[in-house]
Amino acid sequence: MAEDEPSGALSKPLVFRVDETTPGVVQSVLLERGRNQFDEQEQNVEDWNLYWRTSSFRMSEHSSVKPWQQLNHRPGTTKLTRKDSLAKHLKHMGRMYGTSLYQFTPPTFVMPADYTRFVAEYFQERQTAGAKHSYWICKPAESSRGRGILIFRDFKDFIFDDAYIVQKYISNPLLIGGYKSDLRIYVCVTGFKPLTIYVYQEGLVRFATEKFDLGNLQDDYAHLTNSSINKSGVSYGKIKEGVGHGCKWTLSRFFSYLRSWDVDDLLLWQKIQRVVILTILAIAPSVPFAANCFELFGFDILIDENLKPWLLEVNYSPALTLDCSTDVLVKRKLIHDIIDLIYLHGLRNEGREGSKATHGNSNIHATKRDRGGLDAHDCLPYESLSFTGRTYNEDDSVVEAAVSLCPEAAPASQLEGEVSGQEDFHLSTRETPQSKPKLRRRHTPHKTRMPYGSLVQSHSGKTKTSPPVLSDHGSAPDTRAGNFVLVFPFNEATLGASRNGLNVKRIIRELQKLMNKRHSQVVRNKTRTSNMDF
Ligand code: ADP
Repeated sequence: MAEDEPSGALSKPLVFRVDETTPGVVQSVLLERGRNQFDEQEQNVEDWNLYWRTSSFRMSEHSSVKPWQQLNHRPGTTKLTRKDSLAKHLKHMGRMYGTSLYQFTPPTFVMPADYTRFVAEYFQERQTAGAKHSYWICKPAESSRGRGILIFRDFKDFIFDDAYIVQKYISNPLLIGGYKSDLRIYVCVTGFKPLTIYVYQEGLVRFATEKFDLGNLQDDYAHLTNSSINKSGVSYGKIKEGVGHGCKWTLSRFFSYLRSWDVDDLLLWQKIQRVVILTILAIAPSVPFAANCFELFGFDILIDENLKPWLLEVNYSPALTLDCSTDVLVKRKLIHDIIDLIYLHGLRNEGREGSKATHGNSNIHATKRDRGGLDAHDCLPYESLSFTGRTYNEDDSVVEAAVSLCPEAAPASQLEGEVSGQEDFHLSTRETPQSKPKLRRRHTPHKTRMPYGSLVQSHSGKTKTSPPVLSDHGSAPDTRAGNFVLVFPFNEATLGASRNGLNVKRIIRELQKLMNKRHSQVVRNKTRTSNMDF
């Protein structure tokens, strides 16, 4: 037992600590799981196991964290979540590792520093004969919920303040029934040293509630997909073409919609995962060490009509409010799965304090407690994981090398089955899509392929039916907890490159190899399909 662990930890109920900013759904899920809420008056200041709040923690709070305690934020992560800082970091990565690799974010100018560059770019485009005139979006660097946003095409309409960014406006979004949407992808980083990234296989699709119209840039309900805006729109409650009521779908419904139009949803999902990894790599080396903490990010991704995913921003403390039944469906399970992820699997921490945290008996207590005294729901993600049949691409050398012991992550197509029937009752009629996404070419029929995350080898040879084993800095992290699927490290080489520091160059090389492989697969599949069509 760790020296500073309270004696009799096993007999103590697990305690969570909140403040006035802690989302209600977090509190209710934790209570449901049999946890007790920390009471400052009654309990000792160290008598809690999980502290979840919306704002960040002070460094002193991080350094005084005990082995049996977890914090839901990590120092240094706001570098990703401030729009100006994100732009700077991604630009730097582009310069270091190739701009083409980092072209998943629209060209961005940080004001006022980049004002002259922006003006030069704007007027150069205007003077180039035949060039299409871009649309631009101006956003406060540190705001949220669509506040203070301006979309313009003409320079005379451009107004900005300090701490704004100007970004190329994606003017060809993929429309469903004429409505714009973007994806909220949940990403949990359980460790930066070594880097360990899980992407949630379910999520939200947030719709604008008026039809997309470039002729009216002032209409926030047509151009901004924030639900905080759209839930107060006049069309929110109406049945909208292709979309239905409200302004949200589950991610699985969206992928199912794409599949019905012959889109290779798995390829799109892999591209999204690559965006996530490349983005987190931009800050990972500079994030200070901190033990016993994790970070849940909300990635906002817009898909254009060519099915290219664009990163719009990364959210710190993504909204966990329950505005509609789609929110309830996605966010409650999300919290359950986070708890499973951090308690059943342990955090993968490097270094002295980290080892203490992950090897300390306190986590084992947490695990026993979580598995023992809880309702059936708690056991589900762990005990009843379905082991799907594996379908490899023949030329996947990583797979060839892999010991086939880790369960395959469910692709969106399987997930859909898991949630169907529980979906938002407003949206439950799966009407045949009325409007087809504007696709340039026919995509390959959907096939079950190895999702990105499950390329990880199972080093310890354990499967999900074995009892939970706490990860340490030397072993591969678990590949799945509920709907969380490990996307980094994704093979032997990246596992190595994530130990003892982070070898970003090596990781990027592995990502590129994977991308090239995927690209040749897609080309081959297309050739095969067009031969069949012929
Ligand atoms: P906020 O933090 O205020 O929500 P976002 O960057 O997420 O700011 O932008 C709000 C909304 O504006 C997005 O959800 C999206 O609908 C739209 N948007 C933002 N940037 C772009 C862009 N570059 N192109 C197209 N739409 C955008």
